[in-house]
Amino acid sequence: MGHAREEVIQACSEESCCNGSFSEHLPEHFGENVFSLKVMKEVLSPKAYVSIEKTIKEGGKLDVSIADEVAEAMKKWAIAKGATHFTHWFQPMTHVTAEKHDSFIDWDDKGGVVLNFSGKNLIQGEPDASSFPSGGLRATFEARGYTGWDPSSPAFIKEGPEATTLCIPTFYIGYHGEALDKKTPLLRSMVALSKQVCRLAKLFGIDVAGKRAYCTLGPEQEYFLIDKGHYQARMDLVQTGRTLFGGKPAKHQQQEDHYFGAIKPRIMGFMEDLDRTLWSLGIPSKTRHNEVAPAQYEMAPIFEELNMAVDHNMIVMEVMRQLADKHGLTCLLHEKPFAGINGSGKHNNWSVVGPDGKNWLYPGKTPHENAKFLTLLCAVIKAVDTYADLLRVTVASAGNDHRLGANEAPPAIVSIFLGDQLTDIIEQIEKGGAKSSKEGTAIHVGVDSLPALAKDTTDRNRSSTFAFTGAKFEFRAVGSNMNPSAANMVLNTIVAEAISGICDQLEADKAAGKDFNTSLQKVLQDTIKKHKKVVFNGDNYTPAWHAEAKKRGLPNLKNTPEALEAIKAKKNIQVLVKHGVLSETEIASRYEINKHAYNTVLVLEGECASTIARTQLIPAGIEYQKQLADTIKAVGGSGKTTGQKKLLKAVSGLIDEALSETDALDAAVAKHDAAKIFASMGRLRGSIDELESLVPANIWPLPSYAEMLLMNV
Ligand code: ADP
Ligand code: MG
Repeated sequence: MGHAREEVIQACSEESCCNGSFSEHLPEHFGENVFSLKVMKEVLSPKAYVSIEKTIKEGGKLDVSIADEVAEAMKKWAIAKGATHFTHWFQPMTHVTAEKHDSFIDWDDKGGVVLNFSGKNLIQGEPDASSFPSGGLRATFEARGYTGWDPSSPAFIKEGPEATTLCIPTFYIGYHGEALDKKTPLLRSMVALSKQVCRLAKLFGIDVAGKRAYCTLGPEQEYFLIDKGHYQARMDLVQTGRTLFGGKPAKHQQQEDHYFGAIKPRIMGFMEDLDRTLWSLGIPSKTRHNEVAPAQYEMAPIFEELNMAVDHNMIVMEVMRQLADKHGLTCLLHEKPFAGINGSGKHNNWSVVGPDGKNWLYPGKTPHENAKFLTLLCAVIKAVDTYADLLRVTVASAGNDHRLGANEAPPAIVSIFLGDQLTDIIEQIEKGGAKSSKEGTAIHVGVDSLPALAKDTTDRNRSSTFAFTGAKFEFRAVGSNMNPSAANMVLNTIVAEAISGICDQLEADKAAGKDFNTSLQKVLQDTIKKHKKVVFNGDNYTPAWHAEAKKRGLPNLKNTPEALEAIKAKKNIQVLVKHGVLSETEIASRYEINKHAYNTVLVLEGECASTIARTQLIPAGIEYQKQLADTIKAVGGSGKTTGQKKLLKAVSGLIDEALSETDALDAAVAKHDAAKIFASMGRLRGSIDELESLVPANIWPLPSYAEMLLMNV
């Protein structure tokens, strides 16, 4: 995938485009592998273009009569780029994307082939889908699943030295329209939120005719890069994505010298390649830097509309994995690949653009903006407080369990950070808000007398789960390896519900002839009184906060099995069903899928840990044990062996412990008992990691933490 620097320069000068300067012509290269609106404008008839543009920009219904024309143009464009195949690219209920390639060839009637791609090929596909997780939604005998074109996310070209493929982003549903993927409910939640934001906008006197509201997302992606040789020498990394064993090295992140440090050349080579590939795919990669842990890095894009940002994030992760390999590295996206140092998350920066085209989470300087902002702010507070458990479910996974609540990551308690200024403002509203007279006469919106807000209304708080950071909320509990759609689907839905409640009240007051300002003031005041308990501006890591959160009645769902149960709460099912995001059966299927995925990971990790312990690490210990015993025997009475005998005893003791823990682990694995597997793996690791600290490095068969983390350059 992607171009090496030289290739890009070459390609540019061939087209007499860049004269060797990639950076100068970056704007032209940006999105060159995307079938964008810009391309469509050039290749489609005006009628088809106007129609598809309307579908994409306004979220209108797709006019299927133009599908053949779009397909033909898309095929020509893709073939010119070297594609021989197309695929419907979708996001099943796994943590990765799926694709099944079909070549463009078809019989002509003269015994040869032609290259065909019809509107039907574009709009609908039927992958042989019986093996994707459906949580019982599809019995295998009725295994039909359909992929459907999502025109709001443009088709793109995956190119590589081996093959070039046209990828068409699609949603994936069953025979009766049931969602079998992660995109379908995300799209539904966007419609739900748009509906409620427009309803609210109308009350504010904003023209909503033919308009919609949408969300923006900027997912910051953390990742590790280690040497491929080290990776391949560790079956735990290869099979589970994380190290199941390994003692903490002397040097880790304690000197705080990696964060934002100068980027080493080999890593820089990877990052440059990554950016260029992403840019060619129209993905606005913006920021790159070293993260806190050694061998940890981050990439952040410029935010985009939610659905596109999610698709792009899935592509980002795939490109990262593939390009790392080209640089002799391996990219680890697991939430906690190494114990004892920071894990990786995906900070989910989310905001709402109203039908007026403005970011409603921008505090603004004028009372009007201020009112929209404060109403949405209150809706978010209400939503997160009411549905903190549901939000927690969306970030529950076996991998993220090692991260949430550990020292660097947000705790499993969902709370909101607002910062001093906003907290002060909501306290003012709570006390009755408007104190002084209205400014001007044209403004007919409440809370007018609140002070205008400065742009940077917040301090930095790294410990909060859900933080207001300037003009957006940042949900930090999303795991690095996750498809961010579940978190955003729930976020959209619960905020839609909160706005809906606010609108119900405002509309009723309006019908009763009440003054809008007074009415809004009262609704916001009531909302804050009821829900401000979810706001916490202090240090989220302290035990004092955990005690305080308990007192406030905030849920603390410590691990995935606990968290998943929350999906069964009546209020949680109701909110998703009410807004048409997931049906009851779809929710039940997702619960089954997630539970199964969790248990599968635990059993896999348990088996893997047991095998590595039995076949690699315990034997290494035994070898050293023998060396020590032989030496002690050889030295006999002629030398002092007290220290060595002590060492032998320690090594023998640890081997014994490890052996009996492995037996216990095997028993837990045989019963598929996830909780026991988890506990048992922890104990086994304790003995083995201690053994590692005693056994000579040349006998220990696995690359150490120090090697993996410090020798990737
Ligand atoms: P931080 O303070 O968290 O470092 P940055 O301004 O660097 O914030 O942004 C981090 C991410 O948030 C980027 O991906 C950025 O594009 C995204 N972001 C900024 N504004 C918005 C917004 N209005 N909606 C969604 N994401 C946003
Ligand atoms: Mg951030």
